[in-house]
Amino acid sequence: MDCKEILEGLSEYIDEELAEKTCLEIESHLKDCYNCRVVVSTLRRTVTLYREVPAPEIPGDVRTRLHAVIRLKGETG
Ligand SMILES: [Zn+2]
Repeated sequence: MDCKEILEGLSEYIDEELAEKTCLEIESHLKDCYNCRVVVSTLRRTVTLYREVPAPEIPGDVRTRLHAVIRLKGETG
C-alpha cells in the first residue's frame, strides 16, 4: 500500500471498520512512514473529540494499537 491508499483508508481504520488484514497492512506502512503516523495521530485526536460525549469504553485492542502508535512515534523521535 502506498500513502495515498493508506490515507484513503484511515478513517475506516480508526473506526475499526477495516478487515484485520487491511489493518495490519496499514500498521506495517505506519512503521515506515512518519508522515502517515502524524496523520493518524491527528485524526485520532479529532475523532476522540467528536466522541467525547458520552464516552463509551475504548475497546482494549484500540488502546493497544494507540499505544503502539505512540511508542513508534517516540522511537523515531
Ligand atoms: Zn505513508
